[in-house]
Amino acid sequence: MKSVPKGTMKTTMDLTDWLSCSGCGMLVYRKRFDRLSMVCPDCGKHGQLTAEQRLERLLDAGSGTPVEPGPSVHDPLAFEDLVPYTDRLDAARSRTGMDCAVRVVRGTVRGRGVVLAVMDFRYLGGSMGAAEGEAIVTAAEEALKHRLPLVVVTASGGARMQEGAFSLLQMARTSNAMAALDEAGLLTITLVTDPTYGGVAASFSTLSDVILAEPAARMGFAGPRVIEQTIRQKLPEGFQTAEFLLDHGLLDGVVPRGELPQVLESLLALGSPPDPEWAPEVTDPVIREPELLSRRPVEQVVGLARDLGRPTALDHVAAWGSEFVELRGDRAGADCPAVVGGLAELEGLPVMLIGHQKGHTTQELVRRDFGMPSPAGYRKAVRLMRLAAKLRVPVVTLVDTPGAHPGLEAERHGQAHAIAECLRVMGSLDVPVVSVITGEGGSGGALALAVADRLLLCENAIFSVISPEGCAAILWRSGEAAPAAAAALGVDAGTLLSNGIVDGVVPEPAGGAHRDPAVASELVRDAVVCALRELREQDGAALREARRRRLRWFGTYRERVAV
Ligand SMILES: [Zn+2]
Repeated sequence: MKSVPKGTMKTTMDLTDWLSCSGCGMLVYRKRFDRLSMVCPDCGKHGQLTAEQRLERLLDAGSGTPVEPGPSVHDPLAFEDLVPYTDRLDAARSRTGMDCAVRVVRGTVRGRGVVLAVMDFRYLGGSMGAAEGEAIVTAAEEALKHRLPLVVVTASGGARMQEGAFSLLQMARTSNAMAALDEAGLLTITLVTDPTYGGVAASFSTLSDVILAEPAARMGFAGPRVIEQTIRQKLPEGFQTAEFLLDHGLLDGVVPRGELPQVLESLLALGSPPDPEWAPEVTDPVIREPELLSRRPVEQVVGLARDLGRPTALDHVAAWGSEFVELRGDRAGADCPAVVGGLAELEGLPVMLIGHQKGHTTQELVRRDFGMPSPAGYRKAVRLMRLAAKLRVPVVTLVDTPGAHPGLEAERHGQAHAIAECLRVMGSLDVPVVSVITGEGGSGGALALAVADRLLLCENAIFSVISPEGCAAILWRSGEAAPAAAAALGVDAGTLLSNGIVDGVVPEPAGGAHRDPAVASELVRDAVVCALRELREQDGAALREARRRRLRWFGTYRERVAV
């Protein structure tokens, strides 16, 4: 289990006032290196910080109150290898001045209350024994007691061999302390620093709501040497680094040390909901009577819905000028670029924003898979929806996709199930859900993000069971019949509103959203704000019940039940 990768982060002292960077070898003036929080000004390598240094850099000055973990067994097996375990413990204590590898402090980060548990790699490689487990559990209990977010900073080689099964069990013990915070709806954040391996990676570290890592920090279950010995192959460059983990859906973000306080502040700020009298000045732009809509030929609407100048999900969030912390990854091996999501602030109200993401240029579209999500995209969406439910924040989705990605890999990874899971989870949320179809509402891939208490559609957006071209090719046996198919399918706002498929239509600037994206975004924001103003004070269980009741009667002869 214990698998300490070769430590290369040590900075070797050259002369008293100078240090040489272990990344590039450059000499850095010690005081400057310290001012830069041990980040090399030349190559950006993040040197290791002690727990003390980390706390100093994160907490507001003078705000920290140490939290003492309870007593733990010291040497339950009377373990002795080349050296008695007690000697190793004594050496670690005198080297670090710490009783175990974790320090727990309650304090504030930029004015926001938080409990911090910080690991120190100098203490027996940050390995987890009973005392370290006790410290993590104590931190979680302190967060619970004061209803504060928990932030853990990890640095560890894994479970500590010298305590045998006592060490092993700390994985389950700490994981279940995290579960209690989930049940209490308290935000948990992990900062992964180099290295984080074994039992610490496979327990509390990776169970946090938000997992951030420092650049190049390595994390994994098995250490690289163990893997190489097992598979008898050389590992690829960058394997298990933060950047690799981000690409593989295992992290929310890679954050340089200097930017961490800002990111933490944004995340911690999102915990505070505004007063009941929220955004009273916003007027509702939504049209609810079909006869008030100006009609245009449906093929023209299809063209407008697909116009590359329309604002994308990220454009909307940016235009709203709100705080937005993007959260990435499905935690199962991938991060889909066609779905974006994260915690945002809408007129001061924290919301979980999730949307399909297209682009304006071919290059952007290629990078975003043309807004066609893979199963990882839907699994990321589900993860974020569950997080929203935990934190009691509303879910807002912006829908704009030609459809879910049709492809070999998507099928292999369970596209059908991933979409179905979205449909079920979205319907089951006990927080308000508002969806806006902002462009193309293409089939199941769109509906997967559109099971809502209020389903709105932009004036020139479309919503359809299949693309008009696809329908024409199958039923008319000619792609040229697409306009006829679009009309027959009733993909336009007027038909969708008349049929009660959508609850309202968000007006667009004259000529379409692409003509004035800023105004288009403002209208979408106002529509969402007004829908949430109505929903946010409602009881969660009642919301879910109403959402399901509404779904129950779609397409039957029963009268629609008022929601
Ligand atoms: Zn360097």
